[in-house]
Amino acid sequence: MEPELEALARRLNASLGPERIITDAVRLRTYECDGLTNHRCTPALVVLPDTAEQVAAVVRECAAAGVPYVARGSGTGLSGGALPRADGVLIVTSRMRRILEIDVPGQRAVVEPGVINLDVTRAARPYGYYFAPDPSSQQICSVGGNVAENSGGAHCLKYGFTAHHVLACEVVTPDGELVELSADGPGYDLLGVFVGAEGTLGITTKITVRLTRVPETVQTLLAAFGSIEAGGTAVSAIIGAGVVPAAIEMMDALSIEAAEAAVRCEYPPGAGAC
Ligand SMILES: Cc1cc2nc3c(=O)[nH]c(=O)nc-3n(C[C@H](O)[C@H](O)[C@H](O)COP(=O)(O)OP(=O)(O)OC[C@H]3O[C@@H](n4cnc5c(N)ncnc54)[C@H](O)[C@@H]3O)c2cc1C
Repeated sequence: MEPELEALARRLNASLGPERIITDAVRLRTYECDGLTNHRCTPALVVLPDTAEQVAAVVRECAAAGVPYVARGSGTGLSGGALPRADGVLIVTSRMRRILEIDVPGQRAVVEPGVINLDVTRAARPYGYYFAPDPSSQQICSVGGNVAENSGGAHCLKYGFTAHHVLACEVVTPDGELVELSADGPGYDLLGVFVGAEGTLGITTKITVRLTRVPETVQTLLAAFGSIEAGGTAVSAIIGAGVVPAAIEMMDALSIEAAEAAVRCEYPPGAGAC
């Protein structure tokens, strides 16, 4: 390790405690890539803070030492956003997993960035609410990662992407200051700029999200078409008739074959766009 990184590791070790610092070469390899596994790079140092103040302290130390850093949530991103640098620090938010508030009258929840997407819905469900943005990785991805990637999912056709469900973020800026970005604030829409910036503008340490009322009834339909064009035309006709499906998924012939081979879904014979 470079001398300035060794000195940084010693300072972080002293201020945060050894249980929040990883320097062991074998353990560091856990963090060498995200879901884009063809790009790999072992970080010099991994830090696992528990609080916003600790995140800010790490960022301030990195800024003072001129050491680059990258934020990471659950590491499921498919764009390489959490790919570490060999000469840098990876700041992992996975221990920041507290749901701080479920505000039913306000239809919002306040969560730490490492909270798993589906856990927001699990916490809100008893009150008749859920968190609508639902990437297929929702059982494992973090809300902080969702914010940074402006993630979407099957429900986003009707309900919009993560950007439409984030009301405020507490953010550690690159010089280590804690600031609040809010959709309600005056001036420029800095929250809008922050959501989807892949962590390049700061690390979010607290997120206020909108909760959506669980629909009174849900009807699920399966329709088979002979071509992608025919399926697409049907979707346009449904939406054109004023019915916006809560969620929509399309499978082509290869996907249908793969699903049949794997779990025998028993789709209608002849289904399969080519
Ligand atoms: C099987 C699978 C299915 C998927 N399905 C979908 C899908 O349907 N729709 C979709 O949009 N995506 C999907 N993804 C991609 C991925 O799950 C999402 O982008 C998810 O939001 C990433 O969250 P994460 O916690 O894993 O973030 P990470 O991968 O850890 O990080 C992603 C980005 O966020 C930044 N980041 C993480 N935490 C913070 C923070 N606290 N502050 C600032 N920046 C931060 C990182 O620096 C990085 O740039 C899928 C991935 C997999 C593996």
